[in-house]
Amino acid sequence: MTSKRPITIARGDGIGPEIMDATLKILEHAGANIEPEFIDVGEKVYLSGNSSGISDDAWESLRRTKVFFKGPITTPQGGGYKSLNVTIRKTLGLYANVRPNVSYAPFVKTKHPDMDIVIIRENEEDLYAGIEHQQTPEVVQCLKLITRPGTEKIVRYAFEYARKNNRKKVTCFTKDNIMKLTDGLFHKVFKEIAKEYPDIETEHWIIDIGMAKIADSPQDFDVIVMPNLYGDIASDVAAQITGSVGLAGSANIGDQVAMFEAIHGSAPDIAGKGIANPSGLINGAIMMLVHIGQAEVATRIHNAWLKTLEDGVNTGDIAKGGASVGTMEFAEAVIERLDQKPKTFTAVEYKNSEPTDDYQFKLEPLVKDRPKLDVVRELEGVDVFLFNNELTSNEIGQKLEELAGQEFKLAVITNRGVKVYPGGFPETFTTDHWRCRFEAVNGVGSISNKDIITLLTRIDDAGLDSIKTENLYRFNGERGYSLGQGQ
Ligand code: NAD
Repeated sequence: MTSKRPITIARGDGIGPEIMDATLKILEHAGANIEPEFIDVGEKVYLSGNSSGISDDAWESLRRTKVFFKGPITTPQGGGYKSLNVTIRKTLGLYANVRPNVSYAPFVKTKHPDMDIVIIRENEEDLYAGIEHQQTPEVVQCLKLITRPGTEKIVRYAFEYARKNNRKKVTCFTKDNIMKLTDGLFHKVFKEIAKEYPDIETEHWIIDIGMAKIADSPQDFDVIVMPNLYGDIASDVAAQITGSVGLAGSANIGDQVAMFEAIHGSAPDIAGKGIANPSGLINGAIMMLVHIGQAEVATRIHNAWLKTLEDGVNTGDIAKGGASVGTMEFAEAVIERLDQKPKTFTAVEYKNSEPTDDYQFKLEPLVKDRPKLDVVRELEGVDVFLFNNELTSNEIGQKLEELAGQEFKLAVITNRGVKVYPGGFPETFTTDHWRCRFEAVNGVGSISNKDIITLLTRIDDAGLDSIKTENLYRFNGERGYSLGQGQ
């Protein structure tokens, strides 16, 4: 037997320790060749004064073993505690959140007996970049960042996952009818990469109707890839409609490190009672075993778990008032069935991936090898954001017309994205946050950053309060910014 694979394990908070102990007992009986290294993360660490919820020693273990098996964590409310999950995902580059959502009818009640979808959620970017600012007394903002390399990685991951797991279709969800640049880039990259996978069917839905379709007819989907926030919401909806949030596992995959967990939280309402369903964490463990090249053990556990469901052994969340067992009894029922196969469900058979070293499969091209993009970038204006709660839009507009100078002309002023100058309707609601768009009089490339600084100085000298700017560029001749509504 090869030497044991070190795994970093956190038992977690709330029901975490109960479901982790139950799951580890199954792993041990099934012959998982692992060497656990236990670390403390979460509530205890937060409350000891560490606002990130993770110690230096824990980081060291994670970076060395490269595989993290984690119970759910409680994030204390208020007090500036940062979400440990988000910190771990972003620090270790765990860019792909993979969440299979499968129905187990008739053994688990669900309105969708034929559901078997995998949601692949981008895990690092979008609004979860966590860049937020209060800009005026009335207005706060959160930056939504979508990058080309980040999108290429997650979309490619989704197609590779589909191919490797014999999935037939990859669907993309975005809201690019509204966010033409950010979600537009995600959709564009999806279409580009899809061409490299002609064997896989593709489709795209706007997220709102896409979500409605998941809720109504999930059997029409296979693999679905989407930006971070949509994926967060869609994957919880999808898990819930399979019958219980207590069932699904989740993998967070990076180029070097991967983390496996249940999708649910620490369930403080039932913690300490020994009644939580360990199935979500068991399914997380199965994904981990496949990832580390122990497909045979994963297969044994998965089939035994399916047989346990078929035999009607259920925790309270699934039994819903019927006969139920506790967390550890459920685990023991799975252990008793380790050499059995399901009869109604199709038995699973995992295969080890090639190569079976530290991660599932290599993604080409990896971001570190990516070529420098050959792009011509030309400045053609600037958006100056003003704080003002005294002047009307017309008064601001007239002042700025005078301050525009020879290089710039004031093109438009918007408030919350809607044009309010020149023209504008009295019905439009306005706040104290004004976006004032200046365009270069002599067109693209005729102005420099220095001209913008001079413009800002004139604005400041006139007693107007500029709070930030955004440069307006063309990239290879294409506009790199959105137009104001009504512009
Ligand atoms: P939750 O998932 O913990 O609980 C939601 C509901 O589902 C509760 O009624 C709970 O009893 C039930 N439930 C969840 N898991 C179950 C299981 N295995 N068996 C039976 N019933 C189960 O969500 P919440 O109450 O919104 O969050 C509680 C805490 O968990 C919060 O501090 C939150 O920040 C944290 N959280 C952590 C993670 C994670 O670590 N990955 C994920 C989500 C939430």
